[in-house]
Amino acid sequence: MSDTEAGDLETSHVRDLVTANRILAHHRVFDAWGHISIRSPHDPARFFMSTSRAPALVVEQDVVELNVDTGEVVGERTSYAERHIHAGIYRRRANIQAVVHTHSSGLIPFGAVGRPLRAIAHTDAFLIDGCPMFEIRDETDDHTMLVESSQLGDALARRLGDAAIVLMRGHGATVVAPSLREVVYRAIYASHAADLELTVWGLGDAPRYLGEQEARAAASAIAATAQRPWELWSAQVGRPANGKDRHDR
Ligand SMILES: [Zn+2]
Repeated sequence: MSDTEAGDLETSHVRDLVTANRILAHHRVFDAWGHISIRSPHDPARFFMSTSRAPALVVEQDVVELNVDTGEVVGERTSYAERHIHAGIYRRRANIQAVVHTHSSGLIPFGAVGRPLRAIAHTDAFLIDGCPMFEIRDETDDHTMLVESSQLGDALARRLGDAAIVLMRGHGATVVAPSLREVVYRAIYASHAADLELTVWGLGDAPRYLGEQEARAAASAIAATAQRPWELWSAQVGRPANGKDRHDR
């Protein structure tokens, strides 16, 4: 790869990261809080996220580079206090390319009662790898509820294990994926799964969840079409979808 191509790839990553911030704000996955990151296309020991700012307001110039090892920003600027969520997961899961942390109100009830999200619909099949719970009281006597150290980032990543989502009691959730487009999709559809769960139980009967084989097949079919929702959601927030998926698997 030439220097020009490498520079183009990084520019494309940063542009898509800004678009992802806008999409997740538009879908109420983010409000003033919440954040998304993407691993560097050049160096798996680095990742990108915004400086500490409301996601709907993020622009390209806000994006900073961080070290996976330390969770600290490269250079003089700063980022979110909970950047350690992202760093901890990138340290533990080499195949993860993007991470979302959300305080979505639709997910918090499930963490509060310790009830995992499960796939009722094929669109939510990524939940087949489980939905562990993170109890911060087990990890620290600090009562801020925030994952703001490397030690807590590692503890959260351990609880996540091989799953696509971990619910954080009294706080929110963290979602991971092998590409930026997929993590945006999963973060939006985690709330979809929560909505379905509440609706089904309101009907008075236990749902039939997707079986293992159904979920595996459905998850791969959805992942193969990840460009479609990305194109729609980008248009909804007035951002170019770039039409390509060259850096996502
Ligand atoms: Zn948080």
